Amino acid sequence: MESLCCKECGGSLRPSDIKYERYICIACTFKKRVAFLLSDAFVDNIFTKLWTKGLFRRLGIFLERYEIPLRTQAQMLARAAALLQEAEQSFVRLGDIDEEWLEERIKKIGKYLSPTFFRAFLIEEHILPSENRDEKKLRRRLR
Ligand SMILES: [Zn+2]
Repeated sequence: MESLCCKECGGSLRPSDIKYERYICIACTFKKRVAFLLSDAFVDNIFTKLWTKGLFRRLGIFLERYEIPLRTQAQMLARAAALLQEAEQSFVRLGDIDEEWLEERIKKIGKYLSPTFFRAFLIEEHILPSENRDEKKLRRRLR
């Protein structure tokens, strides 16, 4: 009997992959998905502004740098793309993005956006403040 391996990496396939004639393993599937989401063809097609394209690409680099699992990357990038599409219709520039607006969207999209990683990225981009909201409020009150 011929043994079936992943067409991309040569690794073993799961019985369910063979049953449904998927000849690419799950790891390569997510890898391809992430590569597609970050491709110029995809990015140039879904975004119309340079700042959203740049931000989305930097998110891709951020996820890779922190070695976020590819499955999480794929899920997160798809949600972040939708969020940023909405952002470019609502705001003129990156600096205009409203914190409350952003937090509301993050909460609405939920766990597949991986809010912890996404917030860390937004803090690194100086889109969200590094201190949490309560601290900020407290400081404002003390001033
Ligand atoms: Zn593979």
